[in-house]
Amino acid sequence: MSIKLRLLLSYIALLLVPITLTAIVGYFAGSYYIGAVHEAYPGFDKIHDVRQGVARQYAFFSNIKQAALISPEKFQDEDYLSKVEQRLADFNSSFIVRKNDEIIYAMPALLEIVKGYNLPQFGEYEHETPIHSKDIDSGLLLNQHDFYFSDGSQGSIFLVTNMEPIWRSFQELVNTIMITIVVILVITNGTLTYLVAGSIVKPLSKLKDSANRIKEGDLDFEININSKDEIGELSHAFEEMRKRLKDSLDIQLQYEENRKELLANISHDLKTPITTIKGYVEGIRDGVADTPNKIEKYMNTIYTKTVDVDQLIDDLLLFSKLDLSKLPLHLSTIDISKYLMDLLEELKFDLEKKNVAIKYDSKIDESIFAMVDLMQLKRVVVNIVENAVKYMDKPQGTVDIILEKSEEQVVVEIKDNGQGISEDTLPYIFDRFYRGDPSRNTATGGSGLGLAIAKKIIEEHGGRMWAESIEGTGTSIFFTLKNIRSGDVL
Ligand code: ATP
Ligand code: MG
Repeated sequence: MSIKLRLLLSYIALLLVPITLTAIVGYFAGSYYIGAVHEAYPGFDKIHDVRQGVARQYAFFSNIKQAALISPEKFQDEDYLSKVEQRLADFNSSFIVRKNDEIIYAMPALLEIVKGYNLPQFGEYEHETPIHSKDIDSGLLLNQHDFYFSDGSQGSIFLVTNMEPIWRSFQELVNTIMITIVVILVITNGTLTYLVAGSIVKPLSKLKDSANRIKEGDLDFEININSKDEIGELSHAFEEMRKRLKDSLDIQLQYEENRKELLANISHDLKTPITTIKGYVEGIRDGVADTPNKIEKYMNTIYTKTVDVDQLIDDLLLFSKLDLSKLPLHLSTIDISKYLMDLLEELKFDLEKKNVAIKYDSKIDESIFAMVDLMQLKRVVVNIVENAVKYMDKPQGTVDIILEKSEEQVVVEIKDNGQGISEDTLPYIFDRFYRGDPSRNTATGGSGLGLAIAKKIIEEHGGRMWAESIEGTGTSIFFTLKNIRSGDVL
């Protein structure tokens, strides 16, 4: 889920959760307090119907008024008064009867409360008047009705309703709801903030730790943050960056390693013939070679070794030029089939002397053209054929040059029936200085640059080179060249 959506949902939840919870708590608290009010006013049948209860109270009070009008003397009758008092108890009410200025009836507790209070004068009010007592923290509601006693004196009835339970319940309800709102807000806010912030902050801090590790140069770990949001995407990009950095560092280390190996190989390959040359020169100088025959033998060896060193230096120069892609290719378009046949004719004579039969086998009828540097391509083919001869272990050797076409390319296969290459060795034969014979110093000679150079030349031409071999049976070296349609040549 995206961070944007998460924030939006949390905002909605922040609104809905407190409202819903407050409504639920409000409902139950309301029912509870309404029950409490009901207990205080049993005359209010069901407090849900407060208006009905109030109407009943009014109706009862109307009866009292009626009684006051018809038979005012009743208000001096103890029996009648106590009956009225009992009925009024249902409404948490009581009453006061005043004759002229003298209170002739009131419950003692009520009398105590209204003592310090000037009840309204006769005729002053004929409606509800709230009395606020100093002794209790809520009010009394006063209903006044004036009448005349039969002796002509002024009479007032005050119906007093104790509103305190209602006010108290109401206040408690308000307090409960307020506290509930605060608690719910704190909990909802806290929880949502914790969840949302946690889902953002945690992966961020993980990412920060990863960045610090990378800064310290540690790249051997995986940044594994699975959130499916913007931070997840960022972590992904970060992981990609770490991988690339690690790859480039590995390549750099590999280069460094190669460079060291290369230097060691060059030193070794130069040192060996030069040591030989030095030995033979010393032999001549010190008179060890004391006959013209011996001297000639020594001179021949010196010459061969010098040629080897010269060849090695040439190969090295060529390889480094190829390695830096600085070898200029002099491209010309040739009929590859014709070119290979000509080259084969050229090599045939030498090979026959070494008991190796070379033949050409094209699987294509038409002419195929390719853009090549003639000299370099010859170097490639000669290198491969030389290897075939060099690593030949059969009395009758064969080398087949096979031409095939695939889509946009020509595939040249040079196949021999020599000693073959073991499976372990095969992946390395194109590496520079790699030689199957680890002693590097046998009759086969060579520096191990032959196939590395050949492969580089082919790659410079936009082709590929690979090998297949069965140990003891023979080897096939393949290379490809871009096939140009004959129409493009002219
Ligand atoms: P250079 O070619 O520099 O004189 P080289 O022949 O040893 O030396 P590459 O031509 O690069 O070097 O060949 C690398 C190795 O691959 C050889 O040492 C040899 O072990 C193996 N190899 C190459 N061609 C063949 C082949 N046709 N048959 C068997 N082994 C081969
Ligand atoms: Mg070779």
